[in-house]
Amino acid sequence: MNLAISGAKPLRTKPFSVLPRIGPEEHQQLKEVLDDGLLSGFIAAPNDAFLGGKKVKRLEQLFKDFLGVPHAVAVNSATSGLHAALAAVGVKAGDEVICPPYTMSATAAAVLMQNAVPVFADIDPETFCLDPRKAEKKISPRTKAIIVVHLFGLPADMEGIMALAKKHKLFVIEDCAQSPGAEYRNQKVGTIGDIGVFSLNQHKIITTGEGGVCVTRNEKFAFRMQLVRNHGEVVLAEMKDRDPREDADIIGWNYRMPEMEAGIGIAQFGRLEELTSARIALAEELSRGLEKIPGIRVPKKPADRRHVYFVFPLFFEAAVWKIPRSFFLDALRAEGIPCAGGYVRPIYHQPLYQSKSADAFRLAENVPDYRKGDCPVTERCYAEDLVSLPVCRAPHTSEDIKDVVLAFEKLSKNLEELIAFAQAQLRQPSNV
Ligand SMILES: *Cc1c(COP(=O)(O)O)cnc(C)c1O
Repeated sequence: MNLAISGAKPLRTKPFSVLPRIGPEEHQQLKEVLDDGLLSGFIAAPNDAFLGGKKVKRLEQLFKDFLGVPHAVAVNSATSGLHAALAAVGVKAGDEVICPPYTMSATAAAVLMQNAVPVFADIDPETFCLDPRKAEKKISPRTKAIIVVHLFGLPADMEGIMALAKKHKLFVIEDCAQSPGAEYRNQKVGTIGDIGVFSLNQHKIITTGEGGVCVTRNEKFAFRMQLVRNHGEVVLAEMKDRDPREDADIIGWNYRMPEMEAGIGIAQFGRLEELTSARIALAEELSRGLEKIPGIRVPKKPADRRHVYFVFPLFFEAAVWKIPRSFFLDALRAEGIPCAGGYVRPIYHQPLYQSKSADAFRLAENVPDYRKGDCPVTERCYAEDLVSLPVCRAPHTSEDIKDVVLAFEKLSKNLEELIAFAQAQLRQPSNV
């Protein structure tokens, strides 16, 4: 017996840390806010406080400078940000919004929050991102927008998406929750479509605990997102330089970011490039190590894109390993390597979509059937092919990556033992 899954010594016992890097800069930011005493600078009134406090404005400025865009609107999550973005471009009840089904549930939930209907189009098997050809097939006279997700940190085919949007007069919202700093043909993601939305939640590349930032080149969209963020209906009548009727459709929510979160965001932002280049270096090392292993396919990175590896995805070839993916994952975990299979359930498989319980479905003229089997590439990645490794991040080092590669090699070298283990398990009545 050599494998940890059958009781032998695991390759590694040291845990892989998943906590963000917090240093003196974050402490200093918090101290400044606490000493100042103003924990949120927002007031829903037609004055400067409508746009929030000092730290919020500073964080927005950092995003504007980094991305080279004139507008940034910080919010309390990317989910809020996606909702604000959809409201800003004017998505309404009965409208359809095309999105990939292989993404965090919030991408599509934001559409339902605006009482519109998400229509799912399948992903490209090489990039895991929305495939413009599949999206085109889902366009109807009711389609108003596309939400494209740069999944796992890799930019989607933006040339294809933007061409489609132009041809059919659709708005494009980029869900950049997993991809700050990623680039498509030297353009940073978030600056290519009409609005880009970034997440700062605990698990993202840089974090404020919870938080998000929306960016746009369009002044009107920025203003409408500010209205959504901060009870906009209260201030609209007082805005002397605008026709209030134009934006009277906006319902203001409370999506305001507090000063402490913004302060942490400022400190974290200072680490973005360093964290990103470290991720890329680790991911490239991992790719080189895993490439040689039979039955493991490292996805190809298109040469015109910068992948920031929020997650390191790979394909598991069950035909080579001759065991189901779940046994492979259990065996890898037993060796001390964190991993997950499938990423997330295709969104339309969720009970909300299968039961069509949201108001949006009652208000729509036409509701998709959300039939299982509709997006086969996504379903295959979920059920069979995809393995993701949350390991290419600070404070992980080259030593950690070497352990990951050694664990894969160990499983591969002891494949006979692994197959025998799986067969014995499958023969047990409790597992049938
Ligand atoms: C994390 C994430 C979101 C939601 O971000 P929150 O800030 O947690 O609301 C949306 N889309 C994708 C692709 C994500 O990964």
